[in-house]
Amino acid sequence: MSESEQAQFDLIVVGGGSGGLAGAFRAAEHGARVALLEPSLLGGTCVNVGCVPKKAMWLAADIGAKLRMARSLGFAVDAPPQPCELDWPTFIVHRQRYIAGIHDSYRKRLDKAGIVVAPMRARLLDARTVECENGARMGASRILIATGGHAVKPAIPGAELGGTSDDFFQWTAAPTRVALVGAGYIAVELAGVLQALGSQVELFARGQRLLEGFDHEITAQLADDYRQSGVRLHFGHPIAALEADGAQVRVRGADGSLSEPFDQVLFATGRKPNSAGLGLESAGVALDADGFIRIDERSATSVDGIDAVGDVTTDPPLTPVAIAAARRLMDRVYAGASATLDRNDIPTVVFAHPPIGKVGLTEDEARQRHGDNLHIYRAGFRPMLYALAESPQRSLFKLVCVGQERRVVGIHLVGDAADEMLQGFAVALKRGITLDDLRDTVAIHPTSAEEVVLMR
Ligand code: FAD
Ligand code: NDP
Repeated sequence: MSESEQAQFDLIVVGGGSGGLAGAFRAAEHGARVALLEPSLLGGTCVNVGCVPKKAMWLAADIGAKLRMARSLGFAVDAPPQPCELDWPTFIVHRQRYIAGIHDSYRKRLDKAGIVVAPMRARLLDARTVECENGARMGASRILIATGGHAVKPAIPGAELGGTSDDFFQWTAAPTRVALVGAGYIAVELAGVLQALGSQVELFARGQRLLEGFDHEITAQLADDYRQSGVRLHFGHPIAALEADGAQVRVRGADGSLSEPFDQVLFATGRKPNSAGLGLESAGVALDADGFIRIDERSATSVDGIDAVGDVTTDPPLTPVAIAAARRLMDRVYAGASATLDRNDIPTVVFAHPPIGKVGLTEDEARQRHGDNLHIYRAGFRPMLYALAESPQRSLFKLVCVGQERRVVGIHLVGDAADEMLQGFAVALKRGITLDDLRDTVAIHPTSAEEVVLMR
């Protein structure tokens, strides 16, 4: 096909993950002619090696933990051989069937929306032209970059002996001993899942705490819960190397220490954007020092007609952020809307055991912004099921309020069901509620959530 004959679209979307699919669907809904390029599985990180399989494993781990509790409460679940042990291959069939269903649903929706899908990697030739890996070219008046990111390992000797979360999703059994390097979302989530599924987990953090950026009292409570459940936490323990020991791996600390051997070591040390090799530099798209695409609040890059959403950008790397940014963008471009994504007060949950939820400012952030004009409320308690089962696991809920009117600027939860509790309270926080609004709401009894409206 000559250049003048190249296929023309209103919008070309590069990347078929959370952000790209959301943008393509919304643009097509508004009547745009859309092409989507995705060389791998539809759904990207979230569906294939992120949120979805992770949550499935978390659910399995949660069932395992509850089965153990059920046994102590009198249920006859201790019949041989070992009822609390997960048969991974059986569970993985269910997990992957669920994921295949998502792929299928996307394919049908793409067909129905008339979106042209090319299963190919692409790069930009200029602000209006994309070249596919087979040499075909497509033109469009707008291009959306949504190529996501990838896990990175630290550049240390023996790094190849460790895996990443992508490898975890290939496992078909719980390793006996696992080391996790990092203390962010992924390290904390996988540590909880693996310990609950029967592994002996050790977590190596270079800092002094879990989950930098979350409220320190909440993460301290989680650290206690993890220790209670048997996870060994090594804080202030940067890693210098991984060393092979037969089929196993030892972790060499920067202080020269050498760990016992592990069956598996996973790095959960952050992710980098997929922005290399995309032709962004030749198109003039500005990147930050770490390679993330710089965008403004409208998801516009430095080049007119090229937008970007999701993990490849400087936005927070969360699926609902990528989706919301893409939908608002397409509503503005193709339907005359004006709303941009409000990046403040984005709620987020870490699927730890138990889960952590946060929306708004931590106590430290609030203090920096508002000085000492703060009011902190806490509720620490043992949820009823854990009290019944005489399990030590506790919940801690914390409200950060500002000013005389006690406006709620931060809600921080750790405990059973915190993941499901947070969404509604996040709506309330965004509406600017005060402590009195919470107290004016009649509690729902007996629940953990009632503690949020009963704090004094
Ligand atoms: P992706 O979903 O990564 O999609 C990018 C797509 O672009 C990929 O399919 C890729 O193949 C394609 N691509 C790359 N290069 C090219 C190219 N040159 N041409 C064409 N296509 C290309 N977020 C949550 O909100 N909740 C969670 O519970 C959660 N859990 C997570 C667990 C793990 C283990 C991980 C790793 C992440 C998790 N996340 C979670 C983060 C979430 O997965 C990401 O924020 C989200 O997937 C980002 O969407 P995206 O569209 O930007 O990128
Ligand atoms: P995070 O940014 O959350 O955490 C990275 C961790 O790795 C930090 O503890 C960091 O320590 C540590 N680290 C970085 N480099 C090194 C190193 N060289 N040696 C030792 N430790 C190191 O990244 P993740 O990979 O855990 O997750 C990526 C993103 O994916 C998250 O930020 C989140 O947005 C998203 N995600 C969301 C989930 C959810 O919504 N439930 C679940 C999973 C992922 P330090 O703090 O000292 O820098």
